[in-house]
Amino acid sequence: MRGMKQLLSTVLALFVLAQPARAEWIERVEDGIMGTRIVVELWASDKAQGNAAIEAVLAEMRRVDEGMSTYKPTSELSIVNARAAQEPIEISAELFDLLSTALDYSRLTDGAFDITYASVGYMYDFRKHVHPDEKQIAAALPGINYRHVELDRKNSTVHFARPGVRVDLGGIGKGHAVDRGIAVLQARGIDRALVTAGGDSRIIGDRFGQPWVVGIRHPDRKDEVIARIPLEDAALSTSGDYERYFDENGVRYHHIIDPKTGHSASKVRSATIIGPTATRTDGLSKTAFVLGPEKAIEIYNRLDDIDAVLVTPEGKVLYTKGLAPPDTAK
Ligand code: ADP
Ligand code: MG
Repeated sequence: MRGMKQLLSTVLALFVLAQPARAEWIERVEDGIMGTRIVVELWASDKAQGNAAIEAVLAEMRRVDEGMSTYKPTSELSIVNARAAQEPIEISAELFDLLSTALDYSRLTDGAFDITYASVGYMYDFRKHVHPDEKQIAAALPGINYRHVELDRKNSTVHFARPGVRVDLGGIGKGHAVDRGIAVLQARGIDRALVTAGGDSRIIGDRFGQPWVVGIRHPDRKDEVIARIPLEDAALSTSGDYERYFDENGVRYHHIIDPKTGHSASKVRSATIIGPTATRTDGLSKTAFVLGPEKAIEIYNRLDDIDAVLVTPEGKVLYTKGLAPPDTAK
């Protein structure tokens, strides 16, 4: 990450020098929204307009978080979790569409991506080093199955097919928020920008003839970059077992859960997905942890608009067919 930053700021410094005085790159780093770090970087022809655009992106992300956080008991999603097993709950078009998109990714990934992971997942607290025991997992596991989430488009409602079902959008919400942030910028006429929320980024435009360069970090050594990816008009999501975790008796408990077992999914150390939107790359980055590199690469290779870089538990770096290692493994 630091390597990427240094590279970006060198590139940035060069371009700032080359441009007329008023127009400039503006960057903002904001911690806290959606429990993560937000970065917005854009080229603005006017500094005040650029700063106003950044404020608008942050406001949009706070709005998304208000509706979709499971940490806020008053969020629309928390109300769904509290009541949707009893009766169909009418929800906003935005939440309906994102739940519907989440179910699409479940079907696309053989159920590896499944927002009902939370039926067991809510019992983990990675900050406090808390995990459920086998009995608790066995009791809650029947609640995990994306087919339990019944959407009725005509009435814009969601209903859970059985008690004990919970959903959590932590695996796709940041991608959605990033895409919303980009839409806010585009509506203001900004055509060169980067928006990042945690592991999810999207880029519009280039850096005046140069691509943006995004680094993928080493799973254990956070200052070491294992690959640099040049990007223009693309999104990139990285999931890693080093993001939110604790180790206990030689077992790593981390925040990506295998929907079949209710345990942390450890078939890769990290997965980076490149694609057209951050919702899409976010929705696909958990899959490799659950299904393993071979099966996941098979799925990614089937999708024309997707590329991926995976780091296996042995430290091997694997690429999908669209990324030739000689160009990217430097
Ligand atoms: P980030 O939070 O930085 O975007 P990820 O994109 O890797 O990180 O998402 C991890 C989150 O995905 C977890 O914190 C959890 O909320 C959610 N999650 C965990 N397991 C699954 C799963 N099998 N399917 C869908 N979402 C999951
Ligand atoms: Mg994500």
